[in-house]
Amino acid sequence: MATNRPKGGFYIDVTCPGCGGRLDLQEDFFVLQCSHCGSILRVIMPDTPPAYIIKSDKPKREIRFRVDRHLKDQGLPLTQSDFSLKKIYYPYWKVDALEVKTRGESLSRIETKKTINILTTEINTIGIGQVGQVVKACVSGGVDEPKYQSSDLSVNLVPFHVNQIAGPVVDGVPYSIGMRTAYMKMTPYTDEDIDDQSDFIPVMKQWTEVLDQLSGRLAAEGMRYADPNYVPGRRLVQATGSIVYFPYFICNTGSQKILIDGINGRVVHETKLRGDEQPTQYADPHIEFGKLTVDFHRCPTCGIDLPLTQSHIYICHNCHSVISLEKNNPMDDGVYYSPGNHSRHDPLFPFWVFKLHKKTVAKIAKMAVPGQAPDRIVVPAFRIANFKVLRRLTQRITAAFPQFDRELVETFSKDFQSVDISLPEAITHAEMCLFCEKAVKQPNLSPDKVKINPRSVELLYAPFHEENYFYVDSVINAVTFAKNTIVQ
Ligand SMILES: [Zn+2]
Ligand SMILES: [Zn+2]
Repeated sequence: MATNRPKGGFYIDVTCPGCGGRLDLQEDFFVLQCSHCGSILRVIMPDTPPAYIIKSDKPKREIRFRVDRHLKDQGLPLTQSDFSLKKIYYPYWKVDALEVKTRGESLSRIETKKTINILTTEINTIGIGQVGQVVKACVSGGVDEPKYQSSDLSVNLVPFHVNQIAGPVVDGVPYSIGMRTAYMKMTPYTDEDIDDQSDFIPVMKQWTEVLDQLSGRLAAEGMRYADPNYVPGRRLVQATGSIVYFPYFICNTGSQKILIDGINGRVVHETKLRGDEQPTQYADPHIEFGKLTVDFHRCPTCGIDLPLTQSHIYICHNCHSVISLEKNNPMDDGVYYSPGNHSRHDPLFPFWVFKLHKKTVAKIAKMAVPGQAPDRIVVPAFRIANFKVLRRLTQRITAAFPQFDRELVETFSKDFQSVDISLPEAITHAEMCLFCEKAVKQPNLSPDKVKINPRSVELLYAPFHEENYFYVDSVINAVTFAKNTIVQ
């Protein structure tokens, strides 16, 4: 239902470039103040997926104690002098995306949940090939191709978070670490993390491969389905990936090999040691990771500190330059606002304005006469919890846009709301609005095939005032949205 990413959990540990002090950073918060020296800082995410590590500092004796307790529970002899232990860091791909859901798919959604549970819980007891069979058995109720009778297709964007193994299949290592990537503290992985105490299992799977598997363009390895043409897939947009190294201890004692979870100390798996077992060597394909960087949050033109607000666009209060945090998409046309007719201090809400072909705009805004359509589509740049509301607001404000007068913004006052939606995300939202219109006639259309290429980009601030449960625009008094759909 919500188009926002959850704000909870996922702490990343980084250091301040001003004083070297440690910073705790929550996912999604890219501007922060150092609690040690007061510097205002900005975190810059890399283009290639970064790698994080969840560190385990459990001492050897604690792990041995856990193994002993497990052996005792089984009525087996305790560890002897031959006890040995190795810490491994096993890589997982953490995937964060938005999933496109269309009406008529509620059935498949419930079944997909089962799929995940089986993958995470039963992989230890049955082989991965069998898991495929089980999954297929679960889904075999069959999901009909969605058919859309109505002229108005119901589409929703739902946050999608999953993680899955990125390394080679290691006996007993779970396929997924579940929700733990959402609340465990991680630090960016660096070469300094490599020591004699632990083995890092190489990442074998490329990010593009993960995406192809999740989207159903490629079957997951080891999966067999009764119908060879069946590949389960999701329709994902805005997908980002990162590697998370998770700790395990491989313990050998007598003829037992026991795998311990490096965080909670629980036994994950155990097998009988074969006499001829050699330590496995993995050919490392040396997949490059991106680097997270932390920089001072300053105006690139005059060097003055920018405000501590999370926003994708700033106007420097000193030299009045427009500062965009977008790396690859410059904002060419500047920041405008519509003063409206009111002298009162209405909040000004930001919207991304994309110049497109009139036909495309007419389609998105459902204009009866395409020739009269404006050549710009207007998409909210503040967070709205519900895609249906976002789409309706996009349609209404796009149609009303020619009636909004525009003046260049010189400086932000407190009435200007922050830009929560990045430019790429807003483009995705616009594409999804177009997808909704197109998919009515093409039910098999894949959402990632719908692209818009704005010829120019600007930001428009429009004033809104409160009326009961709604915000109503203060320019033409016609564009509304419910107050409670704004995500603060
Ligand atoms: Zn500092
Ligand atoms: Zn400046």
